[in-house]
Amino acid sequence: MVWPDCPAHTDWRLRTAIDAVLSVVLAPSCAACDELLDRPTRGPVCERCWQSIRPLTPPLCDRCGDPLPTWRTVSIPLALCPRCRRAGRLVDRARAIGPYDGALRAIVHAIKYQGRRSLARPLGALMRHRGADMLDGAACTVPVPLHASRRRERGFNQAMDLARQLGLPTVAALRRVRATSPQTGLPAARRHGNLRDAFALTGAGRALEGATVVLVDDVSTTGATLEACARALKQAGVAEVRALTAARVVSLPR
Ligand SMILES: [Zn+2]
Ligand SMILES: [Zn+2]
Repeated sequence: MVWPDCPAHTDWRLRTAIDAVLSVVLAPSCAACDELLDRPTRGPVCERCWQSIRPLTPPLCDRCGDPLPTWRTVSIPLALCPRCRRAGRLVDRARAIGPYDGALRAIVHAIKYQGRRSLARPLGALMRHRGADMLDGAACTVPVPLHASRRRERGFNQAMDLARQLGLPTVAALRRVRATSPQTGLPAARRHGNLRDAFALTGAGRALEGATVVLVDDVSTTGATLEACARALKQAGVAEVRALTAARVVSLPR
């Protein structure tokens, strides 16, 4: 039998052969679930893990993207969670691929703490897909910056890696002007104080007056970082600040 000489077919046969060799010789495991990878050439995370990433279930707060407690809110034209109703927000709308748990959490960790930067590409593709309405009509993406010392230590900024996958120009509009104490472990109210005035505009950021921009980060925890970034952008005359993150820590409805 003669195999059709089609490049896709050849590619498929080659990949299958390479996968068979790699999975036996190197036995690489999935960066998220640690199971052996059947198809290592498809990347460091297995298909099951990618498929397990569920979106946040609607109804969602129209502003911050947190799930709302009941469907009753759908009848209200602008559905807001209690937190957004209580306090004005500088981020006009925020969305994420899904909640910060399971495989999504493991993938974010693999990028940040194991330096698996190649995962930014498929993760960014998922952000682009699930956050299409955040990107629609925006002028550019703005990655949340790391402080220079943290950036040196890690060697890269994961937010920049993700922002570059979203199909819009990426503008490094912000810089962190002060190293903040780690947010983890601080109560929500203190996080906002800890970050106030932590960001300043760069020269590139000054060209964004009147624009709609999309802030990009790996995880939104309390939203304090995104709010502090939005403050700096709006002070510089940015018209609309949206936020798209890979994951979101979902706060329980209060
Ligand atoms: Zn897996
Ligand atoms: Zn909200």
